[in-house]
Amino acid sequence: MRRTGLLYDERFLLHRTGPGHPESHDRLALAHNALKEAGLLEKLTLIEATPTRLKWIERVHSPRHIYRFEEACMLDLGELDHPDNQISPDSYDIALLAVGGILKTLDLVVKGQLDNAFCAVRPPGHHAESNRPLGFCYFNNVAVAAKYLQEQWGIQRVGIVDFDAHHGNGTQAIFLEDPTVFYYSIHEHPSFSYPGTGRDFERGVGAGEGFTLNSLMLPGQGDEECKRLLQRDLFPAFASFKPEVILVSAGFDAHTDDDMSNLNLTSHGFAWIMERLLELAREHSNGRLISILEGGYSLKALPDLIQDHVKILMSK
Ligand SMILES: [Zn+2]
Repeated sequence: MRRTGLLYDERFLLHRTGPGHPESHDRLALAHNALKEAGLLEKLTLIEATPTRLKWIERVHSPRHIYRFEEACMLDLGELDHPDNQISPDSYDIALLAVGGILKTLDLVVKGQLDNAFCAVRPPGHHAESNRPLGFCYFNNVAVAAKYLQEQWGIQRVGIVDFDAHHGNGTQAIFLEDPTVFYYSIHEHPSFSYPGTGRDFERGVGAGEGFTLNSLMLPGQGDEECKRLLQRDLFPAFASFKPEVILVSAGFDAHTDDDMSNLNLTSHGFAWIMERLLELAREHSNGRLISILEGGYSLKALPDLIQDHVKILMSK
């Protein structure tokens, strides 16, 4: 069995998005409960979150964005820029806590105290851009994680795999010109045209050209198409990039029961993806893989999907 870490903190539930909002705290509470019921918590290294120092957020986000988010929470404005981005007075602190927990998790993996880890965090991050929140996201967790690996630990090449049903516009934009962070996303397109980015011709800019890669799934497609695209696009790309650490933006909204996309992945498809990502990590990254929760809104499907995901991380 691998030494797998689980980042979870009850305070992540304090970020409240209001009644009817899909990114509810129930997502995480139910998922955590499923891990507990399955007896997995005793077998995992449990990681508690501590708030990040602001300097790591500032590596990715503008002072203006950070200040506006903090102020909106302090004034209890209820939302930031758009009704999608519901906030409660604690949201800013919880977002700092989520990032801090992720950075702590990275330390454990890089030091070799853990093989891999799952970060069950809220709020999610991959839509957040350096200067604005978007799509339930305020701080781009995975982007801060990549910067941290490079600056704190001298990691040269970070590979990000984003299998959320929606394109991680924020992560792509942040690393568009950066040849040291490879951003790969597989997502639905067109997908209610949200967020509308992530076409196959978006391949990076300047020095970053060739280090962004998008695979597009059509509405209605499922496991087989997903497997085919990962084999065609991701595997050769990472074989040549050779990431030293793999970060996963793990969104589960491509599941057939999830209303937030028209994709039809099943639990088998998600399991297949994760098994292959672990193989890639073993091959290129000394097994180092840290998975960070993004979307996934079916309260029925999500707990089981996360349970499977964690079991695969733990398995031989
Ligand atoms: Zn999504």
